[in-house]
Amino acid sequence: MTSQSRVVVLGAGLAGVRLARRLGELGVPALLVGDEEHRPYNRVLLAEVLAGRYSPDVIALPAPAGPVRARVTGIDRSRRVLVCADGSRIAYGTLVLATGSNPVLPPLRGLFTPDHVLPEGVHAFRTMDDCLGLSKAVRAGVRAVVIGGGLLGVSAARALAVRGAQVVLAQQAERLMERQLDPNASRLVRRHLEDLGVEVHTECRVRDVRCLGGAVRSVEMADGYALDADLVVLACGVSPRAGLARDAGIAVHKGVLVDDALRTSDPHVRAIGDCAQHDGTVYGLAAPALEQADVLAASLAGDPDARYTGTRALTRLTLAGGGALGPAGTGAFDLAAFGETEPRPGDDVVQLADATRGTYRKVVVRDDRLVGGVLVGELGTVGALARAWEGAEPLPSDGGPLLHLLTNDGGT
Ligand SMILES: Cc1cc2nc3c(=O)[nH]c(=O)nc-3n(C[C@H](O)[C@H](O)[C@H](O)COP(=O)(O)OP(=O)(O)OC[C@H]3O[C@@H](n4cnc5c(N)ncnc54)[C@H](O)[C@@H]3O)c2cc1C
Repeated sequence: MTSQSRVVVLGAGLAGVRLARRLGELGVPALLVGDEEHRPYNRVLLAEVLAGRYSPDVIALPAPAGPVRARVTGIDRSRRVLVCADGSRIAYGTLVLATGSNPVLPPLRGLFTPDHVLPEGVHAFRTMDDCLGLSKAVRAGVRAVVIGGGLLGVSAARALAVRGAQVVLAQQAERLMERQLDPNASRLVRRHLEDLGVEVHTECRVRDVRCLGGAVRSVEMADGYALDADLVVLACGVSPRAGLARDAGIAVHKGVLVDDALRTSDPHVRAIGDCAQHDGTVYGLAAPALEQADVLAASLAGDPDARYTGTRALTRLTLAGGGALGPAGTGAFDLAAFGETEPRPGDDVVQLADATRGTYRKVVVRDDRLVGGVLVGELGTVGALARAWEGAEPLPSDGGPLLHLLTNDGGT
């Protein structure tokens, strides 16, 4: 295989590594290129590392032989060559963009120093380097403010609290993880954080980060209230890392636009994972990234029918558990959510809540099909639900199966 016909996978994250592995299994040689210093790892489990539950080695991905380490700064599409920051060039026959997302940095006064680096003590939470930096800075009693109450903010707050920090979480929306959870599930997550000592503020907008001598000192809310802070975590969402594609003239909207065969507007370039936008959606989640990698591997190995038509995989959301460094009794707190968690008029809903155990289960059914659900604290039934959801089969009509879906924990 010449360099002009080989597959080059740009980005050694969840999607890129899965694709390179699958291509290896299918006998299609591929070159994996990534810019992170560390061995490829499972980003979903970073909060577990921050919580002290896992060492970085434990979350390493089974990667094909060491990815080439390079930061790609340009795509020369006419020559089919990647241009790297160190001046080197990598030729490709087919290029796969698997460049993931960047953290969104909120427009806060005082956030950027004149040389465009974050002030000391202010961290994003996206990479192993972010995680190790935060881990080094956290000690018992440190005052940490987490800005953002989505999945990332909740995981970061929980991990920091488990490590003994005094954590305040500031969430602009009216409840936590509003994109994935219904109000009941959000309430349970809030209660769980509060039980760990996290102070949660919702409908609370941060407007300023105040620094002294280049290091953060406090965070100011829109109402003028100031919170002392030694550590600030920015967890304000992510945006697809699509700049390389845009600069090269490939069609980009929010993410790199792809069709069902995961082709971009350039016939020699495909895209998968967080950087891709398929049928109007940028998923930003692990399960679609892995599914897209599997479909693309089949397609590149010659299967003309390989199509990605949207994800039915259940999204499992992992919040860090307590570890060697955490207090006793802070085991993993699991959540799973999928599809539509809010019913439309006419939908059937079954909910089971156990306030004492802090568990909550709910499924939404429309026209005898499962359309969504949430499980908090108790994932015993996740296998049965995943099968019903992923298979999209009609449910038997006597009503019993709904309850069965929520109570059957066999075969998970
Ligand atoms: C803390 C945290 C917790 C999460 N928890 C969950 C969860 O519970 N459930 C869930 O479904 N999802 C979760 N996610 C989201 C999930 O991690 C992502 O959806 C997934 O990692 C996407 O995979 P990807 O391969 O597209 O991108 P990534 O895993 O981000 O990999 C992209 C890689 O490309 C590299 N790269 C980018 N540009 C270049 C370049 N120019 N040159 C070289 N290399 C480059 C990047 O450095 C990176 O290594 C979480 C994310 C974080 C940060």
